[in-house]
Amino acid sequence: MEFALILLGSLCVGLAIALIRARAERAADWERNRRELAEQRARRDAEFKEQTERTSALFDRMVEGLLVVDSVGRIRLANKAASALFGLEGNAVAKTTLEATRNHEVSALVSRVEREAEVLGYELRIDSMGAPRFLQVNALAMRGNNGASDGAILVFHDLTRLRQLEGVRQEFVGNVSHELRTPLSLIKSASETLLDGAKDDPVALQRFLQIIDKHANRLALLIDDLLLLSTLDSGGLRLNKQPLALRNTVQDAMDDLQPRALMRDVTLENAIPQGFIVYADSDRMRQVMSNLIDNAIKYGREGGKTLVEARTLEDGRIEVLVTDDGPGIPKDFQDRIFERFFRVDKARSREQGGTGLGLAIVKHVVQAHGGEVRLEGESGRGSTFILNLPAPNPVR
Ligand code: ADP
Repeated sequence: MEFALILLGSLCVGLAIALIRARAERAADWERNRRELAEQRARRDAEFKEQTERTSALFDRMVEGLLVVDSVGRIRLANKAASALFGLEGNAVAKTTLEATRNHEVSALVSRVEREAEVLGYELRIDSMGAPRFLQVNALAMRGNNGASDGAILVFHDLTRLRQLEGVRQEFVGNVSHELRTPLSLIKSASETLLDGAKDDPVALQRFLQIIDKHANRLALLIDDLLLLSTLDSGGLRLNKQPLALRNTVQDAMDDLQPRALMRDVTLENAIPQGFIVYADSDRMRQVMSNLIDNAIKYGREGGKTLVEARTLEDGRIEVLVTDDGPGIPKDFQDRIFERFFRVDKARSREQGGTGLGLAIVKHVVQAHGGEVRLEGESGRGSTFILNLPAPNPVR
């Protein structure tokens, strides 16, 4: 009996131990599984985060603005360019397009693309940081596997720069046409007057032929200047740079312009030292000097003086100065003086046979030499045009 009880007791103890062991093993298994699952989830999360960051970095590098919205029009993603265009503050994610962009047209476009599946080439004008911007939008609806709406993608191309260039081009064409039309109509009316009978009067014949000659010359000058500017614009001007004795170049330009200076009783003074060398294209440098000295004669003081000087700066660069003692150029106009067709006094310029392109040519030619041109002087106190040119050591 006693033996049976002992046997039963030890059986019970054995069973209890086996049970405890089994439970401990289950708990260890469970803990192992839990840890593995947690590690797998952490790996997936890290991969997902890395992928999302890589995608966002890619989208942020796009020049175009990109908005991705969900099926109820809330923003899922806005790249850097879109944030800059619409001034999106902080995180725009989860806001509606209207809340984020404060632009009704954008939110109307989101609704429209839902209905039409795609909207291409939509033109949008927005105010971005106080300045108008012209955008072209392409929008595409996204659908889930079951065909249900899954939001939309909107891509914004900024066309502002193109529009501005188009405006500049149109203004230029308008100016050119106007400049060509003026001398042409004068030539036409002079020839008509001659044909109508003035040719039989020797005095009238002489006068009208002079008008025709003057305006034909003006047309030729204008066309030469336009062609040169277009060559400069296209970067097609070939410069034959070589060491140049600047005093001689300036003297050649002054000799050509002496008759015009005499007509206004202007003294031309060449104060450039003998042996002063610049590294430049001889013909082009002569043209630059000629344009500046011609302006100084035309717009300077009658009976005044035009002075050309040069100096070497500490860094080895060279400055050439063309100074007159005329009325100068009012401060308000000084920023625009190198623009094509810009004139302070249109009538005066035309009357003097100006094309309105002289200073634009000076600026471009000097830039093609690696230099810059600036104007100094106050209204009423004459003008000094200063060319800053590279040091005269030829680059081999
Ligand atoms: P333009 O053919 O009219 O002379 P430019 O481009 O050479 O054209 O000069 C542009 C305008 O700048 C001129 O119409 C004139 O109003 C002004 N200007 C240029 N040089 C001078 C100067 N030395 N003094 C006063 N005004 C000047």
